[in-house]
Amino acid sequence: MVKVTLIPGDGIGPEVAYATRDVIDATGAQIEWEEVNAGETVYKEKGTFIPDELIESINKNRIAFKGPITTPVGKGFKSINVTLRQKYKTYANVRPVKSIPGVKSPFNNIDLVIMRENTEDLYAGIEHEVTEGVTEAIKVITEEASTKIAEFAFKYAIENGRKKVTAVHKANIMKITDGLFIRCARKVAEKYPQIEYEEVIVDNMCMQLVMYPEKYDVLVLPNLYGDIVSDLCAGLVGGLGLVPGANIGDDIGIFEAVHGSAPDIAGQNLANPIACILSGAMLLDYIGEKEKAQMVRKAVWAVMEEGKVKTRDLGGTASTKEITAEICRQISLQK
Ligand code: ATP
Ligand code: MG
Repeated sequence: MVKVTLIPGDGIGPEVAYATRDVIDATGAQIEWEEVNAGETVYKEKGTFIPDELIESINKNRIAFKGPITTPVGKGFKSINVTLRQKYKTYANVRPVKSIPGVKSPFNNIDLVIMRENTEDLYAGIEHEVTEGVTEAIKVITEEASTKIAEFAFKYAIENGRKKVTAVHKANIMKITDGLFIRCARKVAEKYPQIEYEEVIVDNMCMQLVMYPEKYDVLVLPNLYGDIVSDLCAGLVGGLGLVPGANIGDDIGIFEAVHGSAPDIAGQNLANPIACILSGAMLLDYIGEKEKAQMVRKAVWAVMEEGKVKTRDLGGTASTKEITAEICRQISLQK
């Protein structure tokens, strides 16, 4: 049995997180879920966003599945997602972006993976007002973090049969910070001659991605470009309801969809659980249950290919529960 911390989260979080738990359980994977919540819901009950039980649970299990968490807008609230990433040093944010059959989108041949550096860059949160009307934010790029994310990207490429790594940057303007980022990537690339390596400037990258996304394989980016390019790529394959993600550290994995808590449709059984369910497949890969991970992906693909059961964001009428049940049924057919 592998113990996994389950954080239902806020908004549509519980709906999509429980859907994921049910789908993973349907594969027969030996997972014991330890449910501990965090976020706004918990704040209302206990006056804290991240309760001690959660920290204890993640410290012990080292694997968590997380529904989206809402961070209140306004002063004094640091993003809970960023806090967790920094606390557990999950330096790699992995987001596989793949075309799914039956989804109306501009392309049907995308299969790339975004490796977003997850701990520094402008997200270091160092911002201040110099004088009235003049503000500054500090972009932190270190050799250590840049080398780590590049290593991670190349190792992933080797382990997953990928052929090319593209480092994305703006070193023509930010010569020192982004310059360091690509120097680190280049150095790592030399150790992996079997993987093709290229560098693309971020603005050009955006244009390339909306014109020829099929040309890209593994992208490695500093935090902020990674954030922006991720949403761009989500749009290319049909939206936020479809893109999974994982936050990986040296000995820790926290799995979560790219989308947020979608308060506008929360509690209405309308959310698309696919992004979360595919994050669950990444969790299965992480614990070595590769076959079961494939079962989940095959089931999602089968349901989408058939096209009868789709949630509203994809033009269908099915509820979260209906599509979850259909995915579980497809899994039982594979047994
Ligand atoms: P947060 O502050 O938690 O990020 P948000 O209001 O920004 O919340 P997102 O979750 O980022 O909301 O989503 C943006 C829009 O996309 C929402 O209007 C939502 O309805 C839609 N959306 C996001 N995820 C899903 C999903 N899984 N299924 C259906 N629609 C979704
Ligand atoms: Mg959002």
